[in-house]
Amino acid sequence: MFRSQHLTTIIISILVIIQTVIFGAIGSLNYQETKRNLYQQLDESIELTQKRLGGNLPLLLWNFNNEAIDSVIDAEIENPFVELIVIKVDGVAQYSSAIVLGSIITPVLTEKYRRILERATMSELNYEGSDGSGLVGKLFIVSSDELIKAKLADLTDQIIKETVILNLITAFLIFITLYIFIIKPITKTNNGLRKIVSEGTDLSQRLNEDNIGELGELAANYNKVACYVSQVIEQREASIKKAEESAQLKSEFLASMSHEIRTPMNGIIGTLNLVKETHLKPKQHHYIQLSLQSAQSLLHIINDILDFSKIEAGKLDIDSTEFNLRETIEDICEPFAIKAQANNIALNIDLHSITCKKLIGDSTRIRQVLNNLISNAIKFTHEGEVFITTQLLDKQTHWLFECNIIDTGIGIPQNKHHKLFSSFSQVDASTTRQYGGTGLGLAIVEQLCQLMDGSVSFKSKAGEGSCFSVCLPLQKSNNSAVLAPPQPAKKPKLLLIDEDKTHERLVVDQLTQWGFEIITLHSHMSLADISQQQSIDIVLIDNQHQQFEKIMDTLDERLPQSLRVLLTPVCYQALENEHHNRFNKHISKPIRFDDWCSVFDNTEKLQTVAEPVQKNQSAQQKHILIVEDNIINQEVALAILEGLGYKADIAENGVEAISILQERQDTAYDLIFMDCQMPEMDGYETTKNIRKGKADAIKKVSTLPIIAMTANAMKGDKEKCIAAGMDDYISKPVDPTKIQETLKQWL
Ligand code: ADP
Repeated sequence: MFRSQHLTTIIISILVIIQTVIFGAIGSLNYQETKRNLYQQLDESIELTQKRLGGNLPLLLWNFNNEAIDSVIDAEIENPFVELIVIKVDGVAQYSSAIVLGSIITPVLTEKYRRILERATMSELNYEGSDGSGLVGKLFIVSSDELIKAKLADLTDQIIKETVILNLITAFLIFITLYIFIIKPITKTNNGLRKIVSEGTDLSQRLNEDNIGELGELAANYNKVACYVSQVIEQREASIKKAEESAQLKSEFLASMSHEIRTPMNGIIGTLNLVKETHLKPKQHHYIQLSLQSAQSLLHIINDILDFSKIEAGKLDIDSTEFNLRETIEDICEPFAIKAQANNIALNIDLHSITCKKLIGDSTRIRQVLNNLISNAIKFTHEGEVFITTQLLDKQTHWLFECNIIDTGIGIPQNKHHKLFSSFSQVDASTTRQYGGTGLGLAIVEQLCQLMDGSVSFKSKAGEGSCFSVCLPLQKSNNSAVLAPPQPAKKPKLLLIDEDKTHERLVVDQLTQWGFEIITLHSHMSLADISQQQSIDIVLIDNQHQQFEKIMDTLDERLPQSLRVLLTPVCYQALENEHHNRFNKHISKPIRFDDWCSVFDNTEKLQTVAEPVQKNQSAQQKHILIVEDNIINQEVALAILEGLGYKADIAENGVEAISILQERQDTAYDLIFMDCQMPEMDGYETTKNIRKGKADAIKKVSTLPIIAMTANAMKGDKEKCIAAGMDDYISKPVDPTKIQETLKQWL
């Protein structure tokens, strides 16, 4: 509204200004012309008067015909351009036009008339006749422009009136024209658009296209654009709806599928747990433990999928319950210690700053977040260590829990950083990839942290390891008990003998914080000095110390009274170490809070828990090579085959299988079990290479039966194995009876 008024005002103002200038200029020209003409007329008239008087007066003056002179002057003074006529004879004004005669015919001219006469036109009157000749007088004619001024004043009035009237008329006409052809169509178009916009941008409304010229075209073009945009919006809404529906269907499907899988999984895990509790031989117990681990990792993947679909559907709630943070992290890390050991990397955890026993938060989700990050750290680290540091900061109203998971692994290239937290994304997604996983873990971690009002971030460089940091607020509990082991009446003095510097520092930090005195072999004394430290009560010694034997002998000799605690890796069979009887206690790394409690609890009877290891002496006629990268599956396969009376060896991947087949001259393999997905060289390629004779050296192995033993159990996978040159196919999880039948068939 305002905008179109604005346009009208501007147009009218511009019109008025332009017209005023034009008409003003025309009027001014007219005025100047008229003025010039009038003054020219005046000059001519004066000239004529002068001529006439110059002709008549000399004779009349010669003859002193005063009457005639007066009448001549009177006749001339009628001329409106003549104001005054004066004739001076002998320098004195003798005659003048009648009006001023009285005041002028004095011997001396009054001052007023003298000045008037100064602007008069003067001419000499000379007589020339038969009766004589000579100057008879001087004629002064004073012109009058009064008439001109009056006329010009009238003219000015006229010009002003005309200019105003013309201005109004033309302005009106132009405005009407503009209004009809421009302003009105624009206002109409604009009103149309305004209506469309004010009614929630109703693109179904159309503009009137009957305006002439460009404005009609503008409306038509607008209508086309509106039509196009409406269609695009409709299509987009339809596809959004479709996408939402399919996302909903997908998450419903994932949820129900995960559920359907979880139900039997529960059965498996439950039954395995039941079996574990029965009286089993140590080896049986070990296998049940392995089965449980595999079942747990399967459950873990299923849980990930279920959680992801729950988060996507906005159906994941965060709980708030009281829990022991330190214990939770210790529980999380225990199974990872086994993996770390299998991968030959150190796992160290610094928990000494968690001094508070109870906190409030969602321990299940925290467990899930840390599980994921630690699992990745171990999975992507081949040498060095995974180091977990924690901080619990008191923020008055709440706790702030910070946890860094630092690894010395493969790291993440800079160009992959941006998509790390996106679902289903992995840095290496090729089929021969070295690492398993769904690519869901970090997406879930990020979502869970956000749901708990916290955050997760990372720093990483390819080849230099990664550091994932989690920051979570936790509520304070009314139970403010401090987490510390029992304090004996007389605090024991400890000696730590451990070559792992990180672990050494962790133990020292932890025990110092609890107020114990601890010395380390490296920092304070050499091995020979031990004897002087008679006051040492407890010696903690790492079983992997390079000088273990020597240290043990020195301890026996010098500190026979001290309590000895052997620090072992988590998977440790006591009999492997012939010194096991020389220790009061074994505790495995990473050391848990409860382990420390048991070390300091005087009432506890420190005992060695040793498990006899039995050598399997199964009969072996046939020799089998198992090509498998997963440690647990290796063990399962080995156990099944040994149980069936076969002798079996393991190759970690295709490359190792080929070199074993080439190099082991003493072993003649009768059959190969081949996994499909493996790092370095997968099962398909390995089989092709064996069939091509690439593993043939002293012995010919290219015709050996090769049986696929794989988790690829989808339609078409068996055909793929056969096409690669394998003879048969067994899908995982493997069934011992099926293996037996297959072996019978092929051997
Ligand atoms: P996945 O189940 O595949 O491990 P994640 O979402 O947990 O899925 O991780 C996604 C990808 O991020 C991994 O496949 C890996 O490429 C990369 N990644 C995660 N953590 C690490 C780490 N500590 N070191 C190197 N790469 C990592």
